[in-house]
Parts: sequence; structure tokens; C-alpha cells
Amino acid sequence: MSRIEITVYGAHWCPDCRRSKQFLGEHQIPYNWVDIEEDREGEKFVIEKNAGKRIIPTIVFADVSILVEPTNAQLAEKLGLKTKASRNHYDLIVVGGGPAGLTAALYTAREAIDTLVMERAAFGGQAAGTEKLDNMPGFPDGVAGIEFSQRLRQQSERFGVELLQAQEVTGLHHHDNYHCVQTNDGSEYSASALLMATGSRYRRLNVPGESDYIGAGVHFCATCDGPFYKAKQVAVIGGGNSATEESLLLTKFASQVTILVRSDAFKASAVIQEKVLSHPKIGVRWNTEVNEFIGKDSKLTELRLSDNQTGAKENLAINGAFIFIGLDPNTGFLEGSRILLDQWGFITTGHALLHGDHRPQGYENRDPYLLETSVPGVFAAGDVRDTSTKQVVSAAGEGSTAALSIREYLKSV
Ligand SMILES: Cc1cc2nc3c(=O)[nH]c(=O)nc-3n(C[C@H](O)[C@H](O)[C@H](O)COP(=O)(O)OP(=O)(O)OC[C@H]3O[C@@H](n4cnc5c(N)ncnc54)[C@H](O)[C@@H]3O)c2cc1C
Repeated sequence: MSRIEITVYGAHWCPDCRRSKQFLGEHQIPYNWVDIEEDREGEKFVIEKNAGKRIIPTIVFADVSILVEPTNAQLAEKLGLKTKASRNHYDLIVVGGGPAGLTAALYTAREAIDTLVMERAAFGGQAAGTEKLDNMPGFPDGVAGIEFSQRLRQQSERFGVELLQAQEVTGLHHHDNYHCVQTNDGSEYSASALLMATGSRYRRLNVPGESDYIGAGVHFCATCDGPFYKAKQVAVIGGGNSATEESLLLTKFASQVTILVRSDAFKASAVIQEKVLSHPKIGVRWNTEVNEFIGKDSKLTELRLSDNQTGAKENLAINGAFIFIGLDPNTGFLEGSRILLDQWGFITTGHALLHGDHRPQGYENRDPYLLETSVPGVFAAGDVRDTSTKQVVSAAGEGSTAALSIREYLKSV
């Protein structure tokens, strides 16, 4: 029997349809999509249900109830997502329900620290969207990202963590020993300590086929997925330090690594460039852009390339493609706050905050705890933190470290 119990009627040009689809996608809720410009029956259905008008999106649920042009809040309510906290104040609020946030929360809740986790999308973060985690200790056959995330969620619920979904934190402010978070629906909650565990996003090329083959030939992490490409041919897209370093790592597995660089030079250190350019398994193509990811039977097989100098186009047969064009931290909501970020927007923590004689406000009489930010009582863990290693295990490890620091901090307030 199909698990798909929701049908979204809309059109490709409709921004509210895109928003609703994005909301369902972020919460990993399966749905059928009917484009009423291409499906006459679908169009007729929408007109009938809306008293002769073509109002979209029109969304039909399993119980045959219908929402027309719903807001995200209405969708969340209809889907039974818990979006309101039971109290206004907690010992700890964790922003972000990925591996770092949920691990921290289960540690603190287990020690009777009242903990609220606020997640804007699905629990599990990037890990939930990963086809298979092959490098998780304790899982000899690997584990599906979605299964790992569900287990983590169940475990944190078992220890009494309160979990909210569809709640995006949009701002922070602090007074006395209170830290307050504001959310996209206008709610405000306070806590004695905060943990920022909002992760980051790999930058994408945003070209056709890219999203379709993520995990099925398109990857963002050589440490995670390189071992799947033993004796295979892979492409690396990008020309910076990550692209070149990860290409060298991929040569341990792949028979051939082709680096596709948009410009006519690398933006990497001279030492790495030399290693890459002299490596027998690595070839480099300059001035090359990827216009499309093409596959067969749900697996990537080719890249459509163009030369941005000559305009020449060609297809490159490939088993896998690794995209390394940068990483953006989810810290936009911290703009204007007192939380110190590095030049790329990742959060700075711990001893890295102490430069010479300068100490951030509040640290005149003590050093920051491990993973504490420039605002005393506010901590950061996982991919959102500068110098973090962008792996599930290390994100979970940082979550537990932050939890222990938070426990110590809470003794003092
Ligand atoms: C395609 C892919 C494959 C990967 N494969 C592997 C692998 O095989 N092995 C491995 O070890 N690692 C892998 N990684 C990396 C790994 O998933 C991350 O390192 C890990 O998930 C980081 O955990 P985190 O909790 O720090 O952040 P995230 O997993 O990014 O979670 C952060 C959470 O915070 C939420 N959030 C963000 N902003 C807000 C806000 N303002 N308000 C509320 N919530 C917010 C997000 O929705 C997200 O759920 C992969 C990553 C990707 C993208």
C-alpha cells in the first residue's frame, strides 16, 4: 500500500505551492504532486472544490479534509506537529534538532535539566537526509540516516526532552541571567542556558538533476562516501582547499579523479596544488562548469559540462560526483547578536575567544567553558561551530561535551 496520503494540487509557477512542498519536504512527509496546468482532472478537481475558482495550492489529506492556501502554521497543526512549548521558561533551550542538539538534549534531560529542543524542520538534521551512514561506530552494516535520526529522537523523548517542530528561531536577546529566543510564529521562550546546534548547509550548484541524485552519485563528503567508489571514476567539483584536499583523499579509493574547476586556477595552498597536479590519478579540467547531472535507473552516470571560454559542451561519463564549493552555517538569525562568529559565519567558542588581554564581556572573572560562546551561558556544538569536523559522530560528541559544560554552568546561576 502506498504511504503517500497527501496530494498537493498546484502549478510550477506558484510560490505558495513551492512553500507548501518545501514544508512537507523538510518534514519528510511524502506527498503526491499534481500540476493542474498539465493534469485536466486535477484542474477540474481544484475548480470544483473552490466554488469555480482555481485556488492553489489545494491540499487533500488522508482523512479527505482539504486545506486551501494554508500557512505553514496551519499545515503544521493539520499534520499534528507539536509547535507550542508547555512552558515559557526552561533550564536549557537547544536550537536545532540534529545529531548535536538531540545528543546534548538527551544528556541534559537524563540529568533532570529541563530541556526544550526547537527544530524548524525534521529531527535528525542533515543526517536524516543521508541515505546511509557507513561510518557510525556500533553499526557494522551502516545505518540509514532516517533510522538513526528516529532512534535519536526516541531516545531523547525517553529521557523527557520536550521537542518542538516547525519552530524556526529568528532572534535572541539576553538580560541578567536569562536568554530569550524568538520564533517565526512570534512566540518567545526563555532559558537559563542556550545551545546553538543549528548545523550548516553544503552549497549546491542548483542545476538540473543535482537534487535527484544526492546520495545516488552526488555527494558532499569524501570521508563519508569516498569508500563507495573503490576502482571507480569520480569527479570533484570545485577549486578551493576542500576540493583539492578531498580529491587527494578520493585517490585512495577511486581509479581516476577528475577535478572540474570553474576558473583557470586553484584557490588552494601551493603545497596542495603541487600534490594534486603531480598525482597520477588526478586530472584537472579548467574553465569547466557542470550544467546537468544525468542518470539512469536512479543512479548518476554522466555530467553535462560546458567550457565557459569556448562554449563547447560535452558529456563526461562518471560513477560519482563530489561537490566542494563551500559550506554555509545556519547562523543568519545571530546577526546583530553578541555571539562572536568567524569570518565565514561559524560560531567561535571556548579558549578561541580569549585573545591576549581582550576578554569578551562576562568573562572578566572566569574562562569560558568548553564550547561556550562569547555570551556566557550560550553554547554551540556540531557543524555550526568553527573548527568542527562536520561528521555525525563528532557532532554528537560535541553535543555531549556541551551538555557537560552546560551542567557545570547551570550550577552557577
Ligand atoms: C548529503 C550528506 C551526507 C552526509 N553523510 C555523512 C556520513 O556518511 N557520515 C557522517 O559522519 N556525516 C555525514 N554528513 C555530515 C553530517 O550529516 C553532519 O556533520 C551532521 O548532521 C551535523 O550535525 P549537527 O547536529 O551539527 O547539524 P545538522 O545535522 O545540520 O542539524 C542542525 C539542525 O538545526 C536546524 N536548524 C537550523 N537553523 C535553525 C533555526 N534557526 N531554528 C530551528 N532549527 C534550526 C536544522 O533544520 C537542522 O535540523 C553528511 C551530510 C550531508 C548533507
